[in-house]
Amino acid sequence: MFSSRYWREIPQRYRMEAAKCSGCGTVSFPPRLICPKCKGRTFEKVRLPDQGKVLTYTVIHVPATPFKDEVPFAIAVVELDGGVRITSQVVDCDPATIRIGQRVRTEFRKLQEVGDAGVLCYGYKCVPA
Ligand SMILES: [Zn+2]
Repeated sequence: MFSSRYWREIPQRYRMEAAKCSGCGTVSFPPRLICPKCKGRTFEKVRLPDQGKVLTYTVIHVPATPFKDEVPFAIAVVELDGGVRITSQVVDCDPATIRIGQRVRTEFRKLQEVGDAGVLCYGYKCVPA
């Protein structure tokens, strides 16, 4: 769960920052060092739109331990306006009411507490728009 990749991505998770390729305009999130489309290496930072729609989702009933108090909950692949896809928990609604194509927006929320010290991790979650 807390790989070096996770920690490296924290600035992006906090700010919803993506990288737009200067060569072909492909937006990568999380940002990459090399454009997956044209292999370009120059990017500009762009902020992702906070609105999108549910492409697909799954409802989790048996989660990893840190999420055990939250079941059932929904994890969705959301296509943000502009086409970038993110995977996010969908909160503030009954998971049974989520539909493919539903409009959602991202919000900055607590993701989980870690260990006895209660270290909090924050990031984005989606809520019905
Ligand atoms: Zn490119």
